[in-house]
Amino acid sequence: MTMTLRVIVDRETCIACGVAPTLCSEVFVLEGKNRIVDKYSKELSDSLSVGEVPDELKECVENAAMSCPVEAIKIEEI
Ligand code: SF4
Repeated sequence: MTMTLRVIVDRETCIACGVAPTLCSEVFVLEGKNRIVDKYSKELSDSLSVGEVPDELKECVENAAMSCPVEAIKIEEI
């Protein structure tokens, strides 16, 4: 069964270190601060970026989330 992941970036907490887009450019891009790329974006504001990402990218997203120095990336299975 294919799962989808909801990925939530707290853009207020993000310090724009660049790690997330470097480790997982399929999902993240720096635009001032980190955000979900248009392809997967569902909601975007100055404070929050929410996206829905296919399960195949789980490792990539988890790697970025674990490497974020301020824990600004959260992942939920939906
Ligand atoms: S790793 Fe964290 S602080 Fe760095 S750009 Fe990504 S969300 Fe922002």
